[in-house]
Amino acid sequence: MNPTNPTPNIRTCTRCHIKYDWRRSSSTSLKMTYCNSLCEAADLGFTIEALIRSEFVRTRSIERLLAA
Ligand SMILES: [Zn+2]
Repeated sequence: MNPTNPTPNIRTCTRCHIKYDWRRSSSTSLKMTYCNSLCEAADLGFTIEALIRSEFVRTRSIERLLAA
């Protein structure tokens, strides 16, 4: 037990400033920063998962163009 930080799993959300257990955060990539994926998306303007997916879609359509 660390006396200066008795609740190491409790984080404060960067966006809404509520305290939450980061292990229960629904944020996909930034569990230690945002309490849930809504705060993550609202603060970043997008989710990293969505960004990866759109990058994937773009790559796929280029592949399709090259294959045509
Ligand atoms: Zn939040």
